[in-house]
Amino acid sequence: MPFPHRLLEGYRQFADGRLRHEQDRYRELAEAGQSPEVLVIGCCDSRVSPEVIFDARPGELFVVRNVANIVPPYEPDGHAHGVSAALEFGVAALKVKHIVVLGHARCGGVKAFAEKAEPLSPGDFIGNWMRLMAPAAAKAGPQRDLSWADYLTRLEQANVANSLDNLKTFPRLRHLIETGVIAIHGAYFGVATGALLMRDEATGVFVPATARPDGV
Ligand SMILES: [Zn+2]
Repeated sequence: MPFPHRLLEGYRQFADGRLRHEQDRYRELAEAGQSPEVLVIGCCDSRVSPEVIFDARPGELFVVRNVANIVPPYEPDGHAHGVSAALEFGVAALKVKHIVVLGHARCGGVKAFAEKAEPLSPGDFIGNWMRLMAPAAAKAGPQRDLSWADYLTRLEQANVANSLDNLKTFPRLRHLIETGVIAIHGAYFGVATGALLMRDEATGVFVPATARPDGV
């Protein structure tokens, strides 16, 4: 099967358009190296690209994407931990100032967890991965009188909060957060509406980004 035509066409558009405008910036970034101030932990979902949502230029965002934007807890067990490796690099080498956990509506990973979906393969990698959000589900509580859609929203937002909590299980990162060197933020993208919500740290409530008093 040939390389996807859509990607070749897309690259041509990029080379004729954005690359021309940003060639100097790419060269500078190649010479000086990257120094993004923001690390984003997002979902693999094709509708929720952090670079698109935040209109980011090359070199601005250090992005980690995985199924359901999960930060696993600190586990220095000698095994391979992809998210932890990216966090380590972002924090210790790039010295990012902000870490944003970007959740989203209609998250397939969260839905699979909520519906206790059957494994997609013998390895059940999604099932094992999504079990990391069990503490989030416990905090979200039972569905009770919520509609299923509202319950999923609650779970998706609790999952963002759980990832923020897990960031603080990394001792060095916790220290940097507590001393104000790094700020952590929760956000939530409404896929259908395009609305961005920010998690209010004091109340845990997600509010429209433009309604925040600091105008963020
Ligand atoms: Zn997702």
